[in-house]
Amino acid sequence: MSFEEIDVRREMDLESQMALQALKIHTFRFYPKEKLIMLSESTARHFGCKRHYENAPDSVADSFVFSKDKEKNNRTYQRILEGPDTVSETLRTADGNRFYRLALSVMERDETGFPTIVGGVLEYYDDHMRAVELSKVLSDDYSSMYFVDFIKDEVTPYRMADFINDNYGQQISSRPKYGDVMKNYIIHEVVPEEQASVLQMTSYENLSKYFSDELRRSFVYEFRVLRDGAPKFIRAKFVNLSEEGVLSRAVVGFADVNTEKAEAWERLAYIDQLTGGWNYTFYSEQLKREGGTGYVVSADIKAFKLVNSVCGISKGDDILRKISIIIDNAVHGCGFYGHLNADHFVFFLKVDSDETVAKVLDEINRNIEFMVAEEGIPKISPYFGVTRWKAGMRNQVVLSEANTAKHRIKSSKDEFYAFFRQEDVERALEIKFIEDSFEKALENKEFKIWYQPKYDPDSLEMIGAEALVRWLRPDGQLVSPGKFIPIFESNGMILELDKYVFSNVCERQIDWEKKYGRIIPISVNLSRASLYFNSIVEDYGRIADFIGIDPKYVPLEITESAAVGNGEIKELADKFYDAGFHLHIDDFGAGFSSLSTLNMMRFDTLKLDKSIIDYIGDHAGDVLLKHTIAMVKDLGLEVIAEGVEVKEQVGFLRDIGCDGIQGFFFAKPMEEDDFEKSLYAVKGMTK
Ligand code: C2E
Ligand code: MG
Ligand code: MG
Repeated sequence: MSFEEIDVRREMDLESQMALQALKIHTFRFYPKEKLIMLSESTARHFGCKRHYENAPDSVADSFVFSKDKEKNNRTYQRILEGPDTVSETLRTADGNRFYRLALSVMERDETGFPTIVGGVLEYYDDHMRAVELSKVLSDDYSSMYFVDFIKDEVTPYRMADFINDNYGQQISSRPKYGDVMKNYIIHEVVPEEQASVLQMTSYENLSKYFSDELRRSFVYEFRVLRDGAPKFIRAKFVNLSEEGVLSRAVVGFADVNTEKAEAWERLAYIDQLTGGWNYTFYSEQLKREGGTGYVVSADIKAFKLVNSVCGISKGDDILRKISIIIDNAVHGCGFYGHLNADHFVFFLKVDSDETVAKVLDEINRNIEFMVAEEGIPKISPYFGVTRWKAGMRNQVVLSEANTAKHRIKSSKDEFYAFFRQEDVERALEIKFIEDSFEKALENKEFKIWYQPKYDPDSLEMIGAEALVRWLRPDGQLVSPGKFIPIFESNGMILELDKYVFSNVCERQIDWEKKYGRIIPISVNLSRASLYFNSIVEDYGRIADFIGIDPKYVPLEITESAAVGNGEIKELADKFYDAGFHLHIDDFGAGFSSLSTLNMMRFDTLKLDKSIIDYIGDHAGDVLLKHTIAMVKDLGLEVIAEGVEVKEQVGFLRDIGCDGIQGFFFAKPMEEDDFEKSLYAVKGMTK
């Protein structure tokens, strides 16, 4: 076939050529076997070049294609020979300034199927400037980019990732409809559970609704595809190129964001929701990774609840964020930290001396102090428990050591940090042991009731007594109540113990009354923790009833601090009073005393604590006591002094009208048998 023949047979008429040119589309033919390219007349005119190029495609590439795109150009010509009916590529003109699309489609094949005539189309991207722009918008991360003309409903590839090119290149190069190409892609690539939503989100309807808001220029949507059996994150970005408020042309980019996503997720897993700083998971992971030797510090904020209740929760959260930053700054470079919960933080310091730890803690303490002043919030201060970390230790064990140390100084006024000591564990074990053996001890009657008499300072007669519990351990050790009462108070077991003491005293009273024909009141202590049980009055009333004793012979001592500031106590006191009980206020003067509050309640006796009795002999103390006693008596209450150890105290108390005296001067608490013997004995002042 000669050139002339080809020309005559295949040349498009000039009119059609002009029409195409008006559309900025230029045609040519490629004769692979002859390695010949022949431009249409209008194309040659448009480019101002000759019509025939031998040794194609190299010769064409030399005069029409940007040097860097030559290889791409030649590969496109090669590809059309390898089977497909159409191929296309985006190339730049020789000067590199303009983009155009080169599309080749087979027009004729020989009997072996090899293309003999290939039609070529060169189409300038009218949008090429935009394409440059959008390549900026979409950056290099977008491995695939398409131009979508929604009016013509055509998708034109601008850049295709290899995977997409291999699998969809042909379909996409033939300018499919947007809806079709997306559907095909979604069904084959997207993970099944997301297919419906991706289809909906990327539909023309959804996009045009989204872009109907003029301010919206781009829409980003992420989904997962299956690659080699594993889900991978893909980000699709739609940039609207149309006039505001409509969607007629857009650019769509697809980026593989799997690594970025995985990192973000990983980071998210370590970020504390409340403070925005690191969380406990981060701390423990770091500890595993780079523990080495150092110190673990457990931090807590004293009175933090106050910030929440005075300034509101959101201010409280804000303060926690600030504390998190202060800790972050302090441990930066020498450790790491994590927020545990509420106002608890934990951190690791890679330092080698107690002094360095103290310095860091001091810095945190000072900076929190500054922050408190700056924010004008109620005074809060941190306190820390510190313990040494050695590689291979268990995170939880070490943290609980630090917590133990921290608890030791929780209510200390001068210390704000403490190092863990082995004794702390021993104490914790002791507490656990005491708790564990309570029930058995109660069953085995290991709790013994001792009695301490109360005397009338005038007649020196025994007018009553107080029952005080002791724990006689099976090994013969006698444990004083100060050691176990606070533990039983904190876990609620005290209720059982108090009832046990109360019913035993009731029974003894009945026995002694029968034996000696006389009964004097023996008071029992009622813990503040017992007061929180609703049925306490009924329970005690029932016990007294069952044993058959008038409750006034077993007065209840309630500690002053439980009575003051507890509104419900008034109601309870009324109920006890109505049930026939007598109530004593214990430890008056040891804490925050408020006679006016006490006056509103139906107590009948006030017990002066040893701590104010000790003031006797001091002028101011004497005046205070004198007035207090006068006032209390005016209110119609009896006064009993406790902890009276010396003769002078007895004389003074008698002179100012004290009704009863309890203390070592007369008698120490004693075992039941001894008490029984002394029931009628009266000690003289001459002792
Ligand atoms: P309390 O009720 O104020 O009891 C008085 C405490 O002062 C007793 O200590 C007593 O031995 C001590 N005491 C009395 N006179 C003197 C003195 O002249 N000098 C000194 N230094 N101390 C004196 P005890 O027996 O160790 O009891 C301590 C606390 O344990 C009691 O203080 C009471 O609060 C509590 N307690 C004792 N038994 C019970 C009980 O059965 N139930 C409850 N809930 N608490 C109890
Ligand atoms: Mg008492
Ligand atoms: Mg007392």
